[in-house]
Amino acid sequence: MYEELKKTRAHSQLPSCLADGVRFSCTDCGLCCSGAPGKVRVSEEEIREISEYRNQSETDFRSSETRVVKGEVLLKEKENGDCVFFVNNRCQIHEVKPRQCRTYPFWFQNVRNDRAWQKTCKECPGIGQGKWYSPEEIVEVVMDELNS
Ligand code: SF4
Repeated sequence: MYEELKKTRAHSQLPSCLADGVRFSCTDCGLCCSGAPGKVRVSEEEIREISEYRNQSETDFRSSETRVVKGEVLLKEKENGDCVFFVNNRCQIHEVKPRQCRTYPFWFQNVRNDRAWQKTCKECPGIGQGKWYSPEEIVEVVMDELNS
């Protein structure tokens, strides 16, 4: 599916449970920002935006808030696995958060089949309510994340 989706951008590649679209609006519950360790990638452009938003030099931002793993620049995490910017149950950089955060839950790994999407539905209470996403819009978001 991965190659086909990248090549065709066809929403027919989505699993059947997403074939008619889905509602999703983030409730700011913070579940995807906390808990088990993960990997939040930040691009050069995002590093510029976030450090500017925080009135911090890029050099300071890189050394205090990011780590490099196998060549990828990632946001640091706290010891409990929470994102370093998840403070008082809130994202401290919500307005400029990385594309990877903005595109959740429509990540390829979550939409690759019905089972993966059903698992994601259990993890994200924002799914099933709010803004309607057509299959075409879902594919656009998936592609956005894949290209990040
Ligand atoms: S788990 Fe879903 S509803 Fe909760 S913060 Fe993440 S995207 Fe929003």
